[in-house]
Amino acid sequence: MAIRAEYIWIDGTEPLPYIRSKTRILDDRTTDIPVWGFDGSSTNQAPGENSDCVLQPVFTCPDPIRGGDNVLVLCEVLLPDTMQPHPSNTRSLAVAALEKYGDQEPWFGIEQEYTFFEAGRPLGWPIEGYPAPQGPYYCGVGAIEISGRAVVEAHTTACIEAGLAISGTNAEVMLGQWEFQIGPADTVSAADQVWVARYLLYRIAEDYGIDASIDAKPMKGDWNGAGCHTNFSTNAMREGYDAVIAACEALGAPGKPEEHIANYGHGTEERLTGMHETAHHSEYRYGVSDRGASVRIPWQVAKDQKGYIEDRRPNANMDPYVVTALITSTCCEALA
Ligand code: ADP
Ligand code: MN
Ligand code: MN
Ligand code: MN
Repeated sequence: MAIRAEYIWIDGTEPLPYIRSKTRILDDRTTDIPVWGFDGSSTNQAPGENSDCVLQPVFTCPDPIRGGDNVLVLCEVLLPDTMQPHPSNTRSLAVAALEKYGDQEPWFGIEQEYTFFEAGRPLGWPIEGYPAPQGPYYCGVGAIEISGRAVVEAHTTACIEAGLAISGTNAEVMLGQWEFQIGPADTVSAADQVWVARYLLYRIAEDYGIDASIDAKPMKGDWNGAGCHTNFSTNAMREGYDAVIAACEALGAPGKPEEHIANYGHGTEERLTGMHETAHHSEYRYGVSDRGASVRIPWQVAKDQKGYIEDRRPNANMDPYVVTALITSTCCEALA
Protein backbone atom coordinates (compact mmCIF):
# COMPACT_ATOMS: atom_id res chain seq x y z
CA MET A 1 0.00 0.00 0.00
CA ALA A 2 1.14 3.55 -0.70
CA ILE A 3 2.72 5.45 2.17
CA ARG A 4 3.36 9.11 2.90
CA ALA A 5 6.89 10.42 3.42
CA GLU A 6 7.03 13.86 5.04
CA TYR A 7 10.19 15.56 3.69
CA ILE A 8 11.50 18.07 6.27
CA TRP A 9 14.15 20.73 5.68
CA ILE A 10 15.53 23.93 7.15
CA ASP A 11 14.99 27.04 5.05
CA GLY A 12 17.21 30.08 4.36
CA THR A 13 15.33 32.79 6.27
CA GLU A 14 17.60 35.25 8.14
CA PRO A 15 18.36 35.67 10.93
CA LEU A 16 16.43 32.57 12.01
CA PRO A 17 15.35 29.83 9.63
CA TYR A 18 11.95 28.17 9.54
CA ILE A 19 11.32 24.44 9.25
CA ARG A 20 9.52 23.48 6.05
CA SER A 21 7.97 20.18 5.00
CA LYS A 22 5.95 18.60 2.22
CA THR A 23 4.50 15.20 1.51
CA ARG A 24 5.52 12.64 -1.06
CA ILE A 25 3.53 9.49 -1.74
CA LEU A 26 5.70 6.39 -2.21
CA ASP A 27 4.57 3.02 -3.55
CA ASP A 28 5.18 1.21 -0.29
CA ARG A 29 7.55 1.19 2.66
CA THR A 30 10.20 -0.87 0.87
CA THR A 31 10.68 1.87 -1.75
CA ASP A 32 14.04 3.66 -1.42
CA ILE A 33 13.55 7.23 -0.21
CA PRO A 34 14.34 9.25 -3.35
CA VAL A 35 16.13 12.58 -3.67
CA TRP A 36 13.54 15.33 -4.20
CA GLY A 37 13.39 19.08 -4.86
CA PHE A 38 11.51 22.25 -4.00
CA ASP A 39 11.03 25.89 -4.96
CA GLY A 40 13.89 27.70 -3.23
CA SER A 41 12.53 31.10 -4.30
CA SER A 42 9.75 30.66 -1.73
CA THR A 43 12.09 29.75 1.15
CA ASN A 44 14.85 32.38 0.80
CA GLN A 45 17.12 29.76 -0.74
CA ALA A 46 17.17 30.65 -4.46
CA PRO A 47 16.29 33.41 -6.95
CA GLY A 48 13.07 33.03 -8.98
CA GLU A 49 14.85 32.56 -12.30
CA ASN A 50 16.89 29.63 -10.95
CA SER A 51 14.67 28.37 -8.18
CA ASP A 52 15.23 24.62 -7.85
CA CYS A 53 16.94 23.27 -4.74
CA VAL A 54 17.66 19.62 -3.98
CA LEU A 55 16.38 17.68 -0.96
CA GLN A 56 18.88 15.00 0.01
CA PRO A 57 17.41 12.59 2.61
CA VAL A 58 19.74 12.14 5.59
CA PHE A 59 17.62 10.71 8.43
CA THR A 60 14.40 8.72 8.25
CA CYS A 61 12.18 7.59 11.12
CA PRO A 62 8.59 6.42 11.65
CA ASP A 63 6.00 9.22 11.40
CA PRO A 64 4.25 9.09 14.79
CA ILE A 65 1.53 11.52 13.67
CA ARG A 66 0.32 9.51 10.69
CA GLY A 67 1.35 6.15 12.12
CA GLY A 68 1.41 2.95 10.08
CA ASP A 69 4.28 2.67 7.60
CA ASN A 70 4.45 6.43 7.04
CA VAL A 71 7.82 8.11 7.61
CA LEU A 72 9.49 11.43 8.40
CA VAL A 73 12.46 12.23 6.16
CA LEU A 74 14.88 14.89 7.38
CA CYS A 75 16.82 16.36 4.44
CA GLU A 76 19.88 18.42 3.66
CA VAL A 77 19.50 21.15 1.04
CA LEU A 78 21.93 20.88 -1.90
CA LEU A 79 22.61 23.10 -4.92
CA PRO A 80 21.29 21.44 -8.10
CA ASP A 81 24.29 22.27 -10.32
CA THR A 82 27.02 20.88 -8.09
CA MET A 83 25.10 18.75 -5.55
CA GLN A 84 27.19 20.59 -2.90
CA PRO A 85 25.67 21.90 0.37
CA HIS A 86 23.52 25.03 -0.06
CA PRO A 87 24.90 28.01 1.98
CA SER A 88 21.97 27.57 4.42
CA ASN A 89 22.96 23.91 4.99
CA THR A 90 24.93 23.83 8.25
CA ARG A 91 24.69 20.07 8.72
CA SER A 92 27.81 19.69 6.61
CA LEU A 93 29.76 21.45 9.44
CA ALA A 94 28.67 18.82 11.95
CA VAL A 95 29.46 16.00 9.54
CA ALA A 96 32.97 17.40 8.99
CA ALA A 97 33.61 17.79 12.74
CA LEU A 98 32.46 14.25 13.45
CA GLU A 99 34.58 12.87 10.61
CA LYS A 100 37.63 14.62 12.03
CA TYR A 101 37.11 13.79 15.73
CA GLY A 102 34.88 10.71 15.68
CA ASP A 103 37.66 8.64 17.25
CA GLN A 104 37.09 10.59 20.52
CA GLU A 105 33.40 9.52 20.47
CA PRO A 106 31.77 12.92 21.11
CA TRP A 107 28.29 12.74 22.68
CA PHE A 108 25.70 15.48 23.12
CA GLY A 109 22.61 15.89 25.29
CA ILE A 110 20.62 18.96 24.23
CA GLU A 111 18.03 20.60 26.51
CA GLN A 112 15.58 22.39 24.24
CA GLU A 113 13.56 25.04 26.09
CA TYR A 114 10.55 26.60 24.36
CA THR A 115 7.43 28.68 25.08
CA PHE A 116 3.84 28.04 24.05
CA PHE A 117 1.89 31.01 22.67
CA GLU A 118 -1.83 31.43 22.06
CA ALA A 119 -3.35 34.62 20.64
CA GLY A 120 -0.02 36.41 21.04
CA ARG A 121 0.36 35.68 24.77
CA PRO A 122 2.29 32.90 26.52
CA LEU A 123 -0.12 30.04 27.11
CA GLY A 124 -1.82 30.34 30.50
CA TRP A 125 -1.06 34.06 30.90
CA PRO A 126 -3.96 36.46 31.47
CA ILE A 127 -5.06 38.48 28.41
CA GLU A 128 -3.88 41.65 30.18
CA GLY A 129 -1.32 42.03 32.93
CA TYR A 130 0.86 39.24 34.24
CA PRO A 131 0.60 35.95 36.07
CA ALA A 132 2.01 35.62 39.60
CA PRO A 133 5.83 35.99 39.66
CA GLN A 134 8.10 33.07 38.87
CA GLY A 135 8.53 30.49 41.61
CA PRO A 136 5.88 27.76 41.47
CA TYR A 137 6.02 27.02 37.73
CA TYR A 138 9.30 25.06 37.38
CA CYS A 139 8.40 21.35 37.50
CA GLY A 140 5.03 22.47 38.84
CA VAL A 141 1.76 20.59 39.05
CA GLY A 142 -1.78 21.95 39.05
CA ALA A 143 -3.94 24.15 36.85
CA ILE A 144 -2.55 27.45 38.18
CA GLU A 145 1.09 26.40 37.84
CA ILE A 146 0.90 24.57 34.52
CA SER A 147 -0.29 25.28 30.99
CA GLY A 148 0.08 23.13 27.90
CA ARG A 149 0.78 19.76 29.47
CA ALA A 150 -1.47 17.91 27.00
CA VAL A 151 0.70 19.15 24.12
CA VAL A 152 3.88 18.19 25.97
CA GLU A 153 2.61 14.66 26.63
CA ALA A 154 1.54 14.22 22.99
CA HIS A 155 4.94 15.50 21.81
CA THR A 156 6.84 13.17 24.14
CA THR A 157 4.83 10.17 22.97
CA ALA A 158 5.51 11.17 19.38
CA CYS A 159 9.27 11.46 19.96
CA ILE A 160 9.35 8.01 21.57
CA GLU A 161 7.32 6.47 18.74
CA ALA A 162 9.62 8.12 16.18
CA GLY A 163 12.55 6.40 17.91
CA LEU A 164 14.24 9.66 18.94
CA ALA A 165 16.61 9.63 21.93
CA ILE A 166 14.34 11.85 24.02
CA SER A 167 15.66 11.63 27.57
CA GLY A 168 13.18 13.75 29.55
CA THR A 169 10.85 16.74 29.78
CA ASN A 170 10.04 19.35 32.42
CA ALA A 171 7.98 22.48 32.95
CA GLU A 172 10.23 25.55 33.11
CA VAL A 173 10.59 28.60 35.35
CA MET A 174 8.27 30.86 33.31
CA LEU A 175 4.58 29.90 33.03
CA GLY A 176 4.00 28.40 29.55
CA GLN A 177 7.66 27.48 29.12
CA TRP A 178 8.81 23.85 28.83
CA GLU A 179 11.85 21.75 27.98
CA PHE A 180 12.64 18.45 26.35
CA GLN A 181 16.04 16.79 26.21
CA ILE A 182 17.54 14.81 23.33
CA GLY A 183 20.57 12.62 23.89
CA PRO A 184 23.09 11.37 24.42
CA ALA A 185 23.90 11.01 20.74
CA ASP A 186 26.81 11.96 18.48
CA THR A 187 27.59 15.37 16.93
CA VAL A 188 25.41 14.80 13.86
CA SER A 189 22.70 12.53 15.26
CA ALA A 190 21.91 14.70 18.30
CA ALA A 191 21.44 17.73 16.04
CA ASP A 192 19.35 15.78 13.48
CA GLN A 193 17.09 14.59 16.26
CA VAL A 194 16.67 18.07 17.77
CA TRP A 195 15.47 19.31 14.37
CA VAL A 196 12.99 16.41 14.03
CA ALA A 197 11.81 16.94 17.63
CA ARG A 198 11.29 20.65 16.87
CA TYR A 199 9.29 19.70 13.77
CA LEU A 200 7.11 17.36 15.84
CA LEU A 201 6.60 20.05 18.49
CA TYR A 202 5.41 22.65 15.98
CA ARG A 203 3.29 20.10 14.14
CA ILE A 204 1.55 18.74 17.23
CA ALA A 205 1.03 22.18 18.82
CA GLU A 206 -0.58 23.19 15.50
CA ASP A 207 -3.38 20.68 16.15
CA TYR A 208 -4.10 22.46 19.45
CA GLY A 209 -4.09 25.92 17.85
CA ILE A 210 -0.93 26.72 19.82
CA ASP A 211 2.38 28.10 18.57
CA ALA A 212 5.61 26.78 20.06
CA SER A 213 8.36 29.43 20.05
CA ILE A 214 12.10 29.02 20.51
CA ASP A 215 12.62 32.76 21.02
CA ALA A 216 15.52 33.25 23.47
CA LYS A 217 13.76 35.96 25.51
CA PRO A 218 10.07 35.77 24.69
CA MET A 219 8.95 38.06 27.54
CA LYS A 220 11.06 41.05 28.54
CA GLY A 221 11.50 41.84 32.20
CA ASP A 222 11.74 39.56 35.20
CA TRP A 223 10.98 36.36 33.28
CA ASN A 224 13.46 33.62 32.42
CA GLY A 225 14.71 33.40 28.87
CA ALA A 226 14.82 30.14 26.93
CA GLY A 227 18.08 28.32 26.35
CA CYS A 228 19.40 25.19 24.75
CA HIS A 229 21.90 23.94 27.35
CA THR A 230 24.28 21.65 25.51
CA ASN A 231 25.80 18.75 27.45
CA PHE A 232 28.97 17.30 26.02
CA SER A 233 31.43 14.48 26.65
CA THR A 234 34.12 12.50 24.92
CA ASN A 235 35.36 9.03 25.72
CA ALA A 236 38.24 10.55 27.74
CA MET A 237 35.83 12.79 29.71
CA ARG A 238 33.62 9.81 30.49
CA GLU A 239 36.71 8.07 31.87
CA GLY A 240 38.48 10.79 33.86
CA TYR A 241 38.24 14.26 35.41
CA ASP A 242 41.40 15.75 33.85
CA ALA A 243 39.71 15.60 30.46
CA VAL A 244 36.53 17.19 31.93
CA ILE A 245 38.60 20.15 33.17
CA ALA A 246 40.58 20.28 29.92
CA ALA A 247 37.31 20.66 27.98
CA CYS A 248 36.19 23.53 30.28
CA GLU A 249 39.56 25.23 29.79
CA ALA A 250 39.44 24.73 26.00
CA LEU A 251 36.10 26.55 25.85
CA GLY A 252 37.71 29.44 27.74
CA ALA A 253 40.92 29.70 25.68
CA PRO A 254 41.66 33.15 24.19
CA GLY A 255 39.12 34.05 21.50
CA LYS A 256 36.97 30.99 22.10
CA PRO A 257 34.24 32.52 24.32
CA GLU A 258 33.60 35.25 21.70
CA GLU A 259 33.60 32.74 18.82
CA HIS A 260 31.19 30.43 20.61
CA ILE A 261 28.77 33.13 21.79
CA ALA A 262 28.61 34.50 18.24
CA ASN A 263 27.45 31.07 17.02
CA TYR A 264 25.01 30.24 19.83
CA GLY A 265 21.85 31.76 18.35
CA HIS A 266 20.09 35.12 18.50
CA GLY A 267 19.05 37.19 21.50
CA THR A 268 22.26 36.67 23.50
CA GLU A 269 22.28 40.22 24.91
CA GLU A 270 18.68 39.90 26.12
CA ARG A 271 19.12 36.41 27.59
CA LEU A 272 22.71 36.19 28.92
CA THR A 273 22.40 39.10 31.31
CA GLY A 274 23.99 37.51 34.37
CA MET A 275 20.49 37.21 35.85
CA HIS A 276 17.93 34.39 35.57
CA GLU A 277 20.45 31.54 35.94
CA THR A 278 22.86 32.82 33.29
CA ALA A 279 26.43 34.12 33.17
CA HIS A 280 26.84 37.53 31.51
CA HIS A 281 27.69 37.11 27.81
CA SER A 282 30.92 39.09 28.23
CA GLU A 283 32.44 36.70 30.76
CA TYR A 284 33.51 33.05 30.67
CA ARG A 285 33.61 30.93 33.77
CA TYR A 286 33.03 27.31 34.70
CA GLY A 287 32.19 25.71 38.00
CA VAL A 288 30.71 22.71 39.78
CA SER A 289 26.90 22.94 40.23
CA ASP A 290 27.08 26.64 39.26
CA ARG A 291 23.95 27.71 37.34
CA GLY A 292 25.38 31.21 37.10
CA ALA A 293 28.43 29.92 35.19
CA SER A 294 28.90 29.73 31.42
CA VAL A 295 29.78 26.04 31.73
CA ARG A 296 28.56 23.89 34.59
CA ILE A 297 30.10 20.66 35.82
CA PRO A 298 27.19 18.67 37.31
CA TRP A 299 27.77 17.69 40.98
CA GLN A 300 27.53 14.00 40.12
CA VAL A 301 30.38 14.45 37.64
CA ALA A 302 32.58 16.10 40.29
CA LYS A 303 31.68 13.30 42.70
CA ASP A 304 32.36 10.50 40.20
CA GLN A 305 35.44 12.35 38.85
CA LYS A 306 34.26 11.68 35.28
CA GLY A 307 31.34 12.37 32.98
CA TYR A 308 30.31 15.45 31.00
CA ILE A 309 29.98 19.24 31.03
CA GLU A 310 27.01 21.52 30.37
CA ASP A 311 27.48 24.59 28.16
CA ARG A 312 24.64 26.84 29.38
CA ARG A 313 25.14 29.60 26.83
CA PRO A 314 23.37 28.40 23.64
CA ASN A 315 20.03 30.13 23.10
CA ALA A 316 16.82 28.19 22.51
CA ASN A 317 16.91 29.27 18.85
CA MET A 318 20.45 27.99 18.24
CA ASP A 319 21.24 25.85 15.22
CA PRO A 320 22.21 22.50 16.77
CA TYR A 321 24.43 21.62 13.78
CA VAL A 322 26.49 24.79 14.30
CA VAL A 323 26.72 24.33 18.06
CA THR A 324 27.62 20.63 18.12
CA ALA A 325 30.17 21.17 15.34
CA LEU A 326 31.84 24.03 17.22
CA ILE A 327 31.95 22.33 20.63
CA THR A 328 33.28 19.16 19.03
CA SER A 329 36.03 21.07 17.24
CA THR A 330 37.07 23.26 20.18
CA CYS A 331 37.11 20.52 22.81
CA CYS A 332 38.36 17.61 20.72
CA GLU A 333 41.19 19.69 19.25
CA ALA A 334 42.38 20.43 22.80
CA LEU A 335 41.87 16.85 23.98
CA ALA A 336 43.56 15.22 20.97
P1 ADP B 1 19.83 19.75 33.83
O1 ADP B 1 20.15 19.21 35.19
O2 ADP B 1 20.83 20.76 33.38
O3 ADP B 1 18.42 20.25 33.72
P2 ADP B 1 18.94 17.61 31.99
O4 ADP B 1 18.63 16.39 32.77
O5 ADP B 1 17.82 18.45 31.54
O6 ADP B 1 20.03 18.49 32.84
O7 ADP B 1 19.77 17.25 30.68
C1 ADP B 1 20.97 16.55 30.71
C2 ADP B 1 21.23 15.96 29.34
O8 ADP B 1 22.56 15.47 29.30
C3 ADP B 1 20.33 14.80 28.96
O9 ADP B 1 19.89 14.96 27.63
C4 ADP B 1 21.26 13.60 29.06
O10 ADP B 1 20.90 12.57 28.16
C5 ADP B 1 22.57 14.22 28.66
N1 ADP B 1 23.76 13.46 29.08
C6 ADP B 1 23.89 12.57 30.11
N2 ADP B 1 25.11 12.04 30.14
C7 ADP B 1 25.80 12.61 29.11
C8 ADP B 1 27.13 12.47 28.61
N3 ADP B 1 28.03 11.65 29.18
N4 ADP B 1 27.49 13.22 27.54
C9 ADP B 1 26.63 14.07 26.97
N5 ADP B 1 25.36 14.22 27.39
C10 ADP B 1 24.94 13.51 28.45
MN1 MN C 1 17.29 20.49 31.96
MN1 MN D 1 15.95 24.09 31.59
MN1 MN E 1 20.55 22.44 32.04
